[in-house]
Amino acid sequence: MKAVGMVVDLITLKKWLGNYDHESITIGVVASHSSLQILHGARMEGFKTLGIAVGENRKRYYSAFPGAEPDDWLMLENYQDMIKHAEWFRERNVIIIPHGSLVEYLGSQNYANLEVPTFGNRGILNWESSRAKQREWLEDGGCVMPKVIDDPHDIDGPVIVKYAGAKGGEGYFVARDYRDFKRNVNLEEEFTIQEYVLGCRYYLHFFFDPTKNDGFQVQGRDGPLGSLELLSMDRRDESNVDEFYKLGSLRDLREMNLEPSFVVTGNMPIVIRESLLPKAFELAEGTVAASYGLEEGSRGMIGPFCLETIVTDKLEFRVFEISARIVAGSNPFIGGSPYSDINEPFMSTGRRIARCIRQAIDSDNLDSILS
Ligand code: AMP
Repeated sequence: MKAVGMVVDLITLKKWLGNYDHESITIGVVASHSSLQILHGARMEGFKTLGIAVGENRKRYYSAFPGAEPDDWLMLENYQDMIKHAEWFRERNVIIIPHGSLVEYLGSQNYANLEVPTFGNRGILNWESSRAKQREWLEDGGCVMPKVIDDPHDIDGPVIVKYAGAKGGEGYFVARDYRDFKRNVNLEEEFTIQEYVLGCRYYLHFFFDPTKNDGFQVQGRDGPLGSLELLSMDRRDESNVDEFYKLGSLRDLREMNLEPSFVVTGNMPIVIRESLLPKAFELAEGTVAASYGLEEGSRGMIGPFCLETIVTDKLEFRVFEISARIVAGSNPFIGGSPYSDINEPFMSTGRRIARCIRQAIDSDNLDSILS
C-alpha cells in the first residue's frame, strides 16, 4: 500500500526499520518551533536525542536549557541538506519528529520525500497545506468553517483576507467592503477571503493514537479506530491586532493609518467552558474519522493535531484551520496541562509523541505510527 501523496511507502519504511537497532533509537528534531518540548519529552521517555541546526547561534542557546539540550548535533549549511543526510540519519537509528518549521524550511514536497522514518502520517500534510483540501476534509468531518467569499465585490461585512504562503498570519488584513479590500490587497499573491468570525479563539491540541484501544475511542465506519486525547489548549498572541484596542476605536485607528495585522508572537495557556468539551471532542472525532477517507489507502491521522477554532457568543464552534502535527501552541505545557494532568502529570505533547514511539517499540509495531 502506498501512503497518500508520498514517495516513501510502507514497504520501504519497514525495510529501513528492519535495519534499525530498536534498543537505541534517537529522536531527531530541527532546533526550532517546539523542539525544546520534543527534546525534553524524548529524554523523559529514555531516548537519545539529536538536534539539527543551521548556524552555531541557533545551537548555542540550547545550552541554557540542559534539560532539553540534544545529546548530539547535526550542523548543516542549510536545511535542504537534510535530504542528502538521509542515510546518515538511518545509520544512527533516527526518527524525525516533524513540526511547522521543519515543513516550512524543507518545503512540503521535500519533506514528503525525506528518506528517513518520521513520526505521524506525512501524507496528511498534503491536505493540511492546501486551504481547499483542508476545507473538504474538515467539512466532511462535521466542522463548520467560516464562509468563503469568492468575489470581492460581494464583501458585505467584515472579512479576513489570507495569503496562501503567509507565515503565522503575516500580511493578513481585515476588510469591511470592496473599497477596503482594494486598498489593502496585494494582487500578486494568491489569497482567500473568509467571513470574519467574531468570537474567542481557542486552539485545541489533540492527540490521536491508532495503536491504543482504551480511552475515548474514535468510531470509524467499520468500528473503533484508536484513542483520542485532549492534551492542552492555547490562544495565540498576535501582533498587533491583540493590542489594537488600546489605541481607540477602529475609526481612530484608520485616521492614524493603522491596520490590524495577525503575526503570531507567542502563546497563552487556556481552558474552555467544560460544557464545550463534548462538542470539541465531536469535532475532533469527526476530523480523525474523515482523515481515513482523504484518499484511497490513506493511513489517517497519527499523533498530534490542532483544531483552530473560534467560539461565538452563541457558543458555537467555527473551525478555521487544522494543523496535522505538533503546534507551537503546546509549548506552554512542557510541564503538563490542566487536561493532560488529569491522566498523567508532566505529559506534554512532545513527551506523548515519545511515549507513543516507546510503546510501539515495546510492541514491535513501529511502522504503524511512522511514515
Ligand atoms: P490562520 O493563518 O488561518 O491560522 O489565521 C491567523 C489568525 O487570523 C488567527 O489566529 C485568527 O486570529 C485570525 N483569523 C483567521 N481566520 C479567521 C476568521 N475566519 N475570522 C476571524 N479571525 C480569523
